[in-house]
Amino acid sequence: MSSASLTSKLATEEQKLLACIHCGLCLEACPTYVITGDENDGPRGRLYLMRAVGEGKLSNESRAFERHIDRCLGCRACEQVCPAGVEYGQLLEAARAELFSSATQRGFSYKALRFALKHIWLQPARLNFAFAVARIVRNSGFAGLLLKTGVARIVSRRFEFGLALLQSSSRKSGPRFNTNGKQANEPQRVAASSNGNSAATSAMLFTGCVGEGLFSRVNKATARVLKVNGIEPSVPNKQVCCGALHAHAGDLAGARALARQNIKAFSDNEALPIVTNAGGCGAMLASYGHLLSGDETFAAAARTFSERIRDISQQLKLVGSKAGASVPTGPVTYDASCHLLYGQHAGEAPLEMLAAVSKLNFARLEGSDRCCGGAGIYNLLEPELSREVLAEKLANIQASGAQVLATGNPGCQMQIGAGAFLAGLNLKTCHPVELLDESYAQAGMYDDDQF
Ligand code: SF4
Ligand code: SF4
Repeated sequence: MSSASLTSKLATEEQKLLACIHCGLCLEACPTYVITGDENDGPRGRLYLMRAVGEGKLSNESRAFERHIDRCLGCRACEQVCPAGVEYGQLLEAARAELFSSATQRGFSYKALRFALKHIWLQPARLNFAFAVARIVRNSGFAGLLLKTGVARIVSRRFEFGLALLQSSSRKSGPRFNTNGKQANEPQRVAASSNGNSAATSAMLFTGCVGEGLFSRVNKATARVLKVNGIEPSVPNKQVCCGALHAHAGDLAGARALARQNIKAFSDNEALPIVTNAGGCGAMLASYGHLLSGDETFAAAARTFSERIRDISQQLKLVGSKAGASVPTGPVTYDASCHLLYGQHAGEAPLEMLAAVSKLNFARLEGSDRCCGGAGIYNLLEPELSREVLAEKLANIQASGAQVLATGNPGCQMQIGAGAFLAGLNLKTCHPVELLDESYAQAGMYDDDQF
């Protein structure tokens, strides 16, 4: 592709690129730079490459541009420490859009990703079918059998890790609770939510494609916890995938198509907050205002939509969550999802949610603010570097002595769960809201008459 068309994609971000003062303060925050020591695998080097492409000095089909942009986790830890306020996440999105539209010959994995994004993720019926098949493979024990017998590894390490990711989404990978699931009341699924309730007493739930496909128990726990805290949840039934996978892959047209559908699905009562329990989805939903800023029809609605997004922990912090009873588990630690921390700026809210669990045996995790290497499906696209990032996380978890790891994003939960399983660690994984849900169940706060 010519420089002129490259420039047309990055031109709108020129001022953001020029904001970098090349101080290098972001380097040590960057997991890929720390591992490889290569300037081009750090934020400053990647920004140089983006600028060179934007100025037409480097083709967007160049191997260096492709390689180092692909190897970025998109964790946005660099944004947090940047004194110049460089909006790296938005620049990365533009760089990946360049790659997506270039004629660069990508490997099989990237071609398969493009196919899946277009022909499965944009088609809700096909996506539901794909997750139904995945659940059969997981729940029948077939995935576990392939892993335990070593057949999965014989096929390839990537296939083995993919199966381990699926396996680690199962309920069995979480802590065993005595009461878990007994109060599995479905949140109300509605075509519209014009129920007349005020924003303080109602919320709309964004359930997510992976969330509903593989972690519906977390969505149910979220709904129950909201109810106990006086917030009536509803689930708009026209909602679709948030588009994060598309945006991270550079398919901005696909991401925008999904964004428009979600804005319409949640538009019936714009006074209500939209609650998510997945850091990756939440950060994406909160960026719709930017994503659709050039769309005359949807720009204003997208900004309003983004302002309504809250993680479950942020919503509970606003109302002050009720305390529950203690939960019978071993030591519990918490790993922050990058997108929850740096994208949604949830800060300490998830830890405060955990603090509502009485007498929780909490173990501090060194480096909990660093990426686990999951990053959407980075673990399957860039497996070697992902494994190195994950190894540091697993070592820190082991050092903490935790037997349960709570994290607020399904991708992180699967990445850490898969790594722990393949390393033979004694570690269970769950969402923090599942612990609070169990804490409420232990306290007898779920009264069948009440729900
Ligand atoms: S997003 Fe993460 S991996 Fe990418 S440059 Fe920033 S810190 Fe490094
Ligand atoms: S910290 Fe910010 S300004 Fe400094 S090199 Fe990194 S991106 Fe550029």
